[in-house]
Amino acid sequence: MIVAAALGVGAGGPDRDYPVKPVPFTAVHFTDSFWLPRIEVNRTVTIPFAFGKCEETKRIYNFERAAAALRGEKLADKTPPGFPFDDTDVYKVIEGAAYTLSVKPDPKLEAYLDALIAKVAAAQEPDGYLYTTRTIDPENPHKWAGKKRWELEEDGSHELYNLGHLYEAAVAHYQATGKRTLLDVALRTADLLDRTFGPGKQSIWPGHQITEMGLVKLYRVTGDARYLGLARFLLDARGADGSPHARAYNQSHEPVTAQDEAVGHAVRATYMYSGMADVAALTGEEAYVKALDRIWTNVVGQKLYVTGGIGATGNGEAFGLNYELPNMSAYNETCAAIGNDYWNHRMFLLHADARYLDVMERTLYNGLLSGVSLDGKSFFYPNPLESAGQHERSPWFGCACCPGNITRFLASVPGYVYGHQADHLYVNLFVASTAKVPMDDGRTVTLTQDTRYPWDGAVRITVAPDTPGRFALHVRVPGWARNEPVASDLYRFADASEEPVTLRVNGAAVPLDLEKGFARVERPWKKGDVVELGLPMPVRRVVAHPSVEADHGRVALQRGPLVYAAEWPDNPDGRVRDLLLPDDSPLTSGFRPELLSGVQVVKGKAIALARDEQGQVRRREQELVAIPYYAWANRGPGEMTVWIADRETSARPQPFPTLASRAKVTSSAEGRQDRAVHDQDEPRSSKDPSSGFFHWWPKKGTTEWIQYDFEKAAAVSVVEVYWVDDTGSGEVRAPASWRVLYQDGAEWKPVTPRTPYAVDLDRFNRVSFEPVTTAALRLEATLQPQWSAGIQEWKVE
Ligand SMILES: [Zn+2]
Repeated sequence: MIVAAALGVGAGGPDRDYPVKPVPFTAVHFTDSFWLPRIEVNRTVTIPFAFGKCEETKRIYNFERAAAALRGEKLADKTPPGFPFDDTDVYKVIEGAAYTLSVKPDPKLEAYLDALIAKVAAAQEPDGYLYTTRTIDPENPHKWAGKKRWELEEDGSHELYNLGHLYEAAVAHYQATGKRTLLDVALRTADLLDRTFGPGKQSIWPGHQITEMGLVKLYRVTGDARYLGLARFLLDARGADGSPHARAYNQSHEPVTAQDEAVGHAVRATYMYSGMADVAALTGEEAYVKALDRIWTNVVGQKLYVTGGIGATGNGEAFGLNYELPNMSAYNETCAAIGNDYWNHRMFLLHADARYLDVMERTLYNGLLSGVSLDGKSFFYPNPLESAGQHERSPWFGCACCPGNITRFLASVPGYVYGHQADHLYVNLFVASTAKVPMDDGRTVTLTQDTRYPWDGAVRITVAPDTPGRFALHVRVPGWARNEPVASDLYRFADASEEPVTLRVNGAAVPLDLEKGFARVERPWKKGDVVELGLPMPVRRVVAHPSVEADHGRVALQRGPLVYAAEWPDNPDGRVRDLLLPDDSPLTSGFRPELLSGVQVVKGKAIALARDEQGQVRRREQELVAIPYYAWANRGPGEMTVWIADRETSARPQPFPTLASRAKVTSSAEGRQDRAVHDQDEPRSSKDPSSGFFHWWPKKGTTEWIQYDFEKAAAVSVVEVYWVDDTGSGEVRAPASWRVLYQDGAEWKPVTPRTPYAVDLDRFNRVSFEPVTTAALRLEATLQPQWSAGIQEWKVE
């Protein structure tokens, strides 16, 4: 049954809400050359591309099959979807597409959505249940789904997660088109949830959060308090209902109000924190706010990358320990960056404090934007801060959460620029644009920003209230312009900038009246008043807290909101990991319109370090060129680093080439990680993930190989192998046995060993054998029956 409540919560909105109200993206029109072209690529390239991928990968076919099953048709193909959450990719792209329709009508796209929504609606069971894998084949759904509805929700079924994304899409589509088609589908599912779960009914919490945020959106659009109540119930059940599935991975290890550290899966976490902020704003639940404040302090003080990325480890796509922020193995899922921005924006709306916007901006311009290529057609899932060439964007993923999330986030970026509260107007971000801000007293204030931000820190804001009057304009003065990269001691600038931030009103300098990170200008405003903010943008060196081991003796470069990366195409010999940047080396910057769609590059004199044949370190001065981090990996794979050594003890001199490092590597695993075995990065232990390792996972119990083809035949008599053991995070262990073969014509023959083939951990296993002259050497490993195996480094003499 469709909820009868009138749509719309009334002109004044709910009784209680965020103190600061965001100005919706439909009221803010970008005219700039940074975001506008990206939003347009998202609309014209990424969204059609992602719909195409949803069709090609049968995500839409899943809805069609579910509908056919409901009609009683016998399905020839009952194969479960690849993942039980494949439905969400469709919902996310619908949401992104709906946002674009809100600002740019497109009858063809709207018709495509109508047809797609009809397919979604047809897959809904009569009582409202919507979950294609179970409907396609209730007897044999995806193995994570469980035999009965909801029974594995707190584990891996993702039934509620799917619905959360449906709610976000449905509200976006309703608001964009006025059509209730998808909203009615969503409300039928929400009513099923309300009949099934809640006080006095069954208890449940989502194994993957977002349902809470989605239900709040349904509440906002319908005014039906049951949806808000259910969102709160889903939060309060977590960690409190004695569920056997409770664990830190999905933030159910303790009640949400008792949590004070960011743990577990980072996307789940940030969606939960966002849902808590929403519910707190609408109910006044202070215990939620207190928990969020504690968790935020933990993230920003211990778990945030300089790029704004979060979720340090691929092991559970999760937050690491405090200060555990490795660079090459940094996970930093694109979705986690998006979740971090959802959350920090809500923290700003709760507290009216710019420090949350500092985090939001850092993530937005760096670790979030890096998730999509400049052409809008390939994506990063993890966003590492260092690469030896093993990382590349991909057009799609088996688990395709990130591309769909990019489509919906980029389409809504204009909604993060402004906020208002009573007679206070907040300027959060700097983007050339025009906006109409509806103030609470009924006035409309038109704000026009002229700026080349993020390339230039001069921002001219023309203020035009429809009727003159007094209000306070709060213009954010970013932390980076106040010598504070983030509101914690996790990062600091190596030196204080002496160039002052300037503020002028109608040409006259006014003192900076800083309040919670905003310059407050309260006065009577009239049409045509001009505020000019001057944010100096020298290139700054950032250093990390000494507890961040990965950044010891290293600096990152930042200019304005942008964090920089040295990447292979811009630097001699394609190398950047061997560089040393002396602290006194001056850094300059300049705009290069032809490079990477136009970027400001940073330059300076660095020293390239390399070992000679005797192992001595040779120094060669050369020019360092760095590009904005978001723009890396658009020119093919190769070296990249954000943190550059500024101490010789932290530098990584280019090793002298060896027979192994010059060899071509192939393997029975055919992975891009092949190259890790001869990258000459000495592992610190078998567990060390810092420079990547080669592995045969998921193969177990089989006999596998990896091979070096030498440039020309060479005499060899020793190999050294450093085995991987990732106990605690994966299934890679030392192999049961191994041996070395050499190529003799068309044949592979075993070498005659003089020492045993050892499988010791945490050291090189050296084997000498009767010398052979050969063009290729093969290492053959027989894996333990229940484990896979891998190699950190393989040397040959
Ligand atoms: Zn993702």
